[in-house]
Amino acid sequence: MSVLVLGGAGYIGSHAVYQLIDQGENVVVVDNLETGHKESLHPNATFYQGDIRDIKFLRSVFEKESINGVIHFAATSLVGESMENPLKYFDNNVYGTQVLLQVMVEHDVRNIVFSSTAAVYGEPDSLPLTETMATNPTSTYGETKLTMEKLMKWTEHAHRLNYVSLRYFNVAGARESAEIGEDHRPETHLLPIILQTALNKRSHVTIFGKDYDTPDGTCIRDYVHIEDLIDAHLLALNYLLEGGSSDIFNLGSNQGFSVKEMIETARIITGKDIPAIVGKRRSGDPSTLIASSAKAKQVLNWKPKRTSLNQIIQDAWNWHSLYPDGYGKGVGK
Ligand code: UDP
Repeated sequence: MSVLVLGGAGYIGSHAVYQLIDQGENVVVVDNLETGHKESLHPNATFYQGDIRDIKFLRSVFEKESINGVIHFAATSLVGESMENPLKYFDNNVYGTQVLLQVMVEHDVRNIVFSSTAAVYGEPDSLPLTETMATNPTSTYGETKLTMEKLMKWTEHAHRLNYVSLRYFNVAGARESAEIGEDHRPETHLLPIILQTALNKRSHVTIFGKDYDTPDGTCIRDYVHIEDLIDAHLLALNYLLEGGSSDIFNLGSNQGFSVKEMIETARIITGKDIPAIVGKRRSGDPSTLIASSAKAKQVLNWKPKRTSLNQIIQDAWNWHSLYPDGYGKGVGK
């Protein structure tokens, strides 16, 4: 039996593939390589290049492989881009998931763990955020992820599909052995941008707004180490395979850091200047997001081990300094 990882050449997906293979699982990867990197594919995974919206392609994978669980990372995930191009997000994320669920039901594959996001909550009424709080996304990206959760819910109702939705806060860091790391084209995420600036690949970091209602005026986010995040996926898959019922969990570190604090900590870890200037707010950004992950700890027995910001930044820095041009195509292309 194999685990199918959709989007297994992306930042988060590739880390999941490595951990699954570490645990002795057979892994099948599907990725269209639009944003993923061939170089991040694990050599022992079976790889199919294609798009999950292509139902014929997806059916052919399910026919060739014996799949007992699916981990679904194949989505576009940039808040800013989603505001400019909402229909792309509905197409990739919502329609892509609809096709996937249809093919899973056809092939009697009933277990799926998938990436959701803290962006489903929007601007929170109180902190830390728990899974029962209101969902009012302030971005198209968050709306599409919330819609994906609803697709799961109604498919479960009709077809006995079991799902775990994992609402990520800000995922950062890299595998400790530094074989794989974070490389988006174009890069929009804060920590890689900070580290590319430390490597002189960029002249400066732009801080998106300094007039938020936070102690230093910059946005506060909850950063979770990618390897801890992936641990939760493996636990969630086992939970489903052992008969656990569908559920939703936050994954964060329960602590918030401002954009300024991120830059200052990175200056200390890298020993570099990292020039920063203040720019305009980015549309769709809530001021503060901090998770309560108590439920994942209690139900999935999730035990995050890499909870210090220093370790997150250090592991990311190890990969970035080994691969200053990322996966080899030149930063920013
Ligand atoms: N951010 C910033 N400058 C950048 C990129 C991001 O100030 O060049 C801020 C952004 O406004 C947010 C935080 O850093 O408050 C994290 O943004 P990122 O895009 O990494 O993740 P998101 O919160 O969108 O998932």
